[in-house]
Amino acid sequence: MKTITCRQTGGPCDMAFTGSTPKSVMDQGAQHVMASTDPDHMKVAEQMKTMSPEDNSKWNQMFEDVWEKTADNV
Ligand SMILES: [Zn+2]
Repeated sequence: MKTITCRQTGGPCDMAFTGSTPKSVMDQGAQHVMASTDPDHMKVAEQMKTMSPEDNSKWNQMFEDVWEKTADNV
């Protein structure tokens, strides 16, 4: 299991998401951003919704990178 924060994925807060796969953490992060109603998160949510396939794959790569660099929870 690894824990990754909203901020590590480009978000504006320090909410932490824990999961055993990048996908599960990514889904939690996306749900958190989509469910938030403050302007900072809504800006990120808007960016997520309007991402081009190219931006999307860049973002996925960035996330994989963060995932790799994050140590497993002990
Ligand atoms: Zn957040």
